[in-house]
Amino acid sequence: MIDPQQQYALIKLNAFEYVELVKLGFKMSLDRPRTEQLQTSRQRSPLQRAGITGFECYRTVPETFATAAQLAADHPTLAEWIDIGDSWEKTNGATGNDIQVLKITNSAISGPKPKVFAMSAVHAREYATAELNTRFALYLLDNYETNADARWIVDHHEMHLLLQANPDGRQQAETGLLWRKNTNENYCGPTSDSRGADLNRNFEFQWGCCNGSSTNECSNVYRGASAASEPEVSAIQDYVRALFPDARGDGINDAAPDDTPGVFLDIHSFSELVLYPWGFVNQTTANHESLRTMARKLAFFTDYNPIQITGLTIADGSTIDFAYGELGVASFGFEVGTNFFQDCSSFENTVLPRNLQSLLYTAKAARAPYLLADGPEVIGLGFDNNVVMPGMSVQLVATANDTQFSNTSGTQPTQIVVGANAYIDTPLVAWGNCNSAYCNRWYL
Ligand SMILES: [Zn+2]
Repeated sequence: MIDPQQQYALIKLNAFEYVELVKLGFKMSLDRPRTEQLQTSRQRSPLQRAGITGFECYRTVPETFATAAQLAADHPTLAEWIDIGDSWEKTNGATGNDIQVLKITNSAISGPKPKVFAMSAVHAREYATAELNTRFALYLLDNYETNADARWIVDHHEMHLLLQANPDGRQQAETGLLWRKNTNENYCGPTSDSRGADLNRNFEFQWGCCNGSSTNECSNVYRGASAASEPEVSAIQDYVRALFPDARGDGINDAAPDDTPGVFLDIHSFSELVLYPWGFVNQTTANHESLRTMARKLAFFTDYNPIQITGLTIADGSTIDFAYGELGVASFGFEVGTNFFQDCSSFENTVLPRNLQSLLYTAKAARAPYLLADGPEVIGLGFDNNVVMPGMSVQLVATANDTQFSNTSGTQPTQIVVGANAYIDTPLVAWGNCNSAYCNRWYL
């Protein structure tokens, strides 16, 4: 983890590497709590019935899959559990896993609908990410009957949730190893704990272009033998390409049209950041201001820092650059929490509730993310009277608030809200019926 503002890097070293860095003149200090956590052997308490050993809030890979399959079985019109490919181990032997997406939408209501693709745990050790995505699915389906937002999202949008993007690697990480890559045995020796490819450096777009990945097979950012060489990556690419039509030209400086629908989201941990492209080059995209505005909005709910990927690191062949660069879809990364093995108390009390708000906002803005993020949120929606008899009139009250932006990395201009429209049982604002230049920014 690198904190560009505080100007320090948090790294895992062995004693030899520590001494080498001291010799080179780096100012070093030991992070005692994290070191202790790394050295503590894991034990399942007698009371723990499920989850990763010592971290009962996080479903294991089989438990995640069982939850998703159960949701699809319990809500056959609202959820579908789709096999989109095989992991490296399944492609090359008897063990291994399917790569699976939980699709959530009310199939009784026809589309086209705005789509969100949200993937998690592509880096195996990032425990909180898969659980956050799974809880998002549970929230939408558990609250479908009683919560207007959940119902509107499920009826009129499509959520495509890739809960375990790297299940082979994740099963290694669940034993306590700080495993990041997939488990490809052709790289760095078949039994090495440093084997595999970094799936988030293996995507085709600008693969290996810019010193944002490694050719060393044992490196944690090894990019793989060729672009999309890893079966997990080729499955994800194929699925995402089928979801989102190509909305952007091939030039680095081509813009996606402002009304391009859809959001691509890759959930990582940790560092408390919201990221947007580019990652391969320290240059802004042609949709920079819109992406930054949406990132500032997303970061408001979590109090995270919204920055371009290059503010963290140069990364080539990444998920986010692929989705925006190849398809023009508005693409973001979350770096949630403060630890790879985030403790369950802070996950339940902070990481989950705050990021759930960001995920709900992502779904709401997916109709036109480059435009809608600039406008206000409607908050405090309700009636002036809780009990309404047939024939009585009621007043709808709400506040349109245009100040919900993170101002951590620059200041977001806000606008005076001059009006609002209410729609009942209608998901789509009629863009053309608007008599103000700002109308298309009001609807959420
Ligand atoms: Zn990551």
